Amino acid sequence: MSGIDTLPPLRQVIASHGLSARKSLGQNFLLDLNLTAKIARQAGDLTQCDVLEIGPGPGGLTRGLLAQGARHVLAVEKDARCLTALEEIAEAYPDRLTVLNADALDIDPLAHLTPPIRIVANLPYNVGTELLVRWLTPTQWPPAWTSLTLMFQREVAERIVAQPGSKAYGRLALLAQWRARAQIVMSLPPEAFTPAPKVSSAVVHLTALPEPRFPADPAKLERLVARAFNQRRKMLRAALKGVAPDIEDKLLAAGIQPTDRAETVDLERFCALSRLL
Ligand code: SAM
Repeated sequence: MSGIDTLPPLRQVIASHGLSARKSLGQNFLLDLNLTAKIARQAGDLTQCDVLEIGPGPGGLTRGLLAQGARHVLAVEKDARCLTALEEIAEAYPDRLTVLNADALDIDPLAHLTPPIRIVANLPYNVGTELLVRWLTPTQWPPAWTSLTLMFQREVAERIVAQPGSKAYGRLALLAQWRARAQIVMSLPPEAFTPAPKVSSAVVHLTALPEPRFPADPAKLERLVARAFNQRRKMLRAALKGVAPDIEDKLLAAGIQPTDRAETVDLERFCALSRLL
């Protein structure tokens, strides 16, 4: 038995349902149920929450979330081969798991859930950043979710929590930290996955802030940051040329030297500059 539920071990599930991993779907599975339970615990108290999981695969993390008492889990999986295995989990946890066979990029699953909502996923690497940016740039404030607990390649996780002055600092850090408190809560070596990917992974936990860290219009801030980091090695007076006729004055008014580079400017000053544009 698995230790966290009475369902068969994941290796057996994979063998009996023919779930050989497909690279094109970013399939690197977690088969250790103690580990998936640990990731589920990083998401906080799930008992009063609906949980959105993207890419449940054979269901290791799904089982962890349900065993941790999640009120309801909506699991969105693109690979139809996984559905039978996931239905077996749904039967073991009556009325607590809904499985949707869909591409997460094509739907808005948050619309089907009841707040508070936590998103927890071992994301497919090929779509992970795109999904994160979507969750970080909703039109409404506060966002529909309370927290995000997401597995990424270590390098992406470091970009989310990066501070000014580091190579990893950029658009992802600014978008994430404007709306949320972000920290790396777990590190996993390649061998934790089957098959093992080439790189290490990390779990990032983001907690939505009740209000933005500094006032700014989301669309303006997003455009400014994208532009500033598009040419991150250039001085800002060059990288932002044409954004406003008097961009050097606006940079100075926001406390930024026109000769500064984007990677040295903190979130507070980016927000100040966006308010002047
Ligand atoms: N959660 C499982 C685990 O931890 O073992 C599987 C994680 S695996 C890294 C990523 C999963 O996302 C795979 O099951 C894959 O089929 C699924 N997937 C890939 N692209 C997807 C997409 N666009 N929408 C929904 N699921 C997707």
